[in-house]
Amino acid sequence: MHGGIIVAVEPPRRSGVPLSPTEQTYYEASAAARPMPPLAGRQLQARTVIVGGGFAGLATAASLAERGERDTVLLEAASVGHGASGRNGGFVFGGFSLEPEDLLRQIGAPAARSLYAATREAVALIRARIAAHGIACDAVEGGALWLDWFNSPASRQAMAARQTLLQEQFGVCWQPVGPQQVRQWLQTERYGGALLERDALHFHPLVYARGLAAALHEQGVQVLERSGAMRIEAEPTRPGSSDSRWRVHTACGGSVCAERVLVAGGGYLKRVLPALEGARLPIATYVVATEPLADAQHPIRTPAALYDNRFAFDYYRRTVDDRILWGGRISILQRDSRRIAHLLKRDLLRVFPQLQGVRLTHAWGGLMSYARHQMPQIGQLAPGLWYAQAFGGHGVAPTTLAGEWLAEAMQGTDLPQALQRYGLSSVFGAAGLLAAQARYSWAELRDALKDERR
Ligand SMILES: Cc1cc2nc3c(=O)[nH]c(=O)nc-3n(C[C@H](O)[C@H](O)[C@H](O)COP(=O)(O)OP(=O)(O)OC[C@H]3O[C@@H](n4cnc5c(N)ncnc54)[C@H](O)[C@@H]3O)c2cc1C
Repeated sequence: MHGGIIVAVEPPRRSGVPLSPTEQTYYEASAAARPMPPLAGRQLQARTVIVGGGFAGLATAASLAERGERDTVLLEAASVGHGASGRNGGFVFGGFSLEPEDLLRQIGAPAARSLYAATREAVALIRARIAAHGIACDAVEGGALWLDWFNSPASRQAMAARQTLLQEQFGVCWQPVGPQQVRQWLQTERYGGALLERDALHFHPLVYARGLAAALHEQGVQVLERSGAMRIEAEPTRPGSSDSRWRVHTACGGSVCAERVLVAGGGYLKRVLPALEGARLPIATYVVATEPLADAQHPIRTPAALYDNRFAFDYYRRTVDDRILWGGRISILQRDSRRIAHLLKRDLLRVFPQLQGVRLTHAWGGLMSYARHQMPQIGQLAPGLWYAQAFGGHGVAPTTLAGEWLAEAMQGTDLPQALQRYGLSSVFGAAGLLAAQARYSWAELRDALKDERR
């Protein structure tokens, strides 16, 4: 849920509220289990093998199946949706982690328009899959509200400029909402006005991931859990032949041999393909859930998903069982749930001080994967060896789009040319993380100064 790479390293502070959130995510606690079997020592053959059961892997399997190809094995190291896909804020909206202004400047209007429009089609495809497979993932068609944290003339101007750019360059309407209306929807004085993106929804991402996996399984795709890929190697189709296939060896024993491999391990991929791992930073972000709140006490009176216009913004929403699901911050540190709860409770109280006594029941983190250019990395390392990663903090629709592009590319259509600009450039390991931290500290300081001046 973040537009930029940021790193927060702050000591926890007591918020005066007893905090005993569980390590389990709210999503795990509220989704029906749908376990899939492991590979467990078997040797399988398939047309396609997919490494990673997040949205990128699942969407590609779904897009292939929708094009008549079901001879796919999907290998997931833990369980489906274990990574960012089953831990996220649940916002489903168009666009990428890279801001639309930057996309436009970097690749020009026609290509930027076409990529941005494709993410909006991906939102529609998610809706269609929810309906087609009857996935009861608490989808709420409330739009997304981008809130003005600063409420200053400069930030009003910047928001108006965003609205104009989206309308004129991308043909997308984000509707202005005045401060009074915002205060009716949210019981806080924190914000000025907002922009409402109507064509957005929020959902329970883990139920969606598990539902999609179950639908794939019913269609004949083999979804295998607890089956982490360890090594991928090319293998000649016949002794002495120059044609090769790919063999994926797993940690649980056994292997899958296939014409094509897609590696979609996000920020969780480790020691499998250095070319991919060296091109993205795994960055953590955090989420908490409150206990359910009585309607009279609830400060959120809109079905919209909510986020603000700081670089390091809060993102939150009212769940169907009347909790607040609150996310924020990004860090190179994977913190435990107690520390996460302390940090995010403080953020929550900055916006809704009246919630001082409210209990947090769950707190967790997840890893995003970020490229330096903040756009997804999608392509081929060698003939038949495909990858999709670096969807950053804005990946629900783009992973779905990646599935469409990859399925078409595997069947012979070229990937969009504009993607070539966003390749596997090095993130420079630890130095890259430090650079990200420096960039974040600077952005946070800038936002704090703007806040002081308003
Ligand atoms: C806390 C949080 C909040 C976010 N909020 C939003 C939001 O509200 N809206 C939005 O659009 N985006 C959001 N994002 C971003 C979005 O969730 C991601 O961009 C997207 O889910 C990435 O999907 P993925 O499939 O690439 O990676 P992941 O979902 O991380 O999936 C990768 C999977 O690969 C598996 N894996 C790794 N290595 C192996 C291996 N060797 N073998 C087999 N399997 C392996 C992992 O276990 C994992 O399940 C958020 C991210 C986080 C972390």
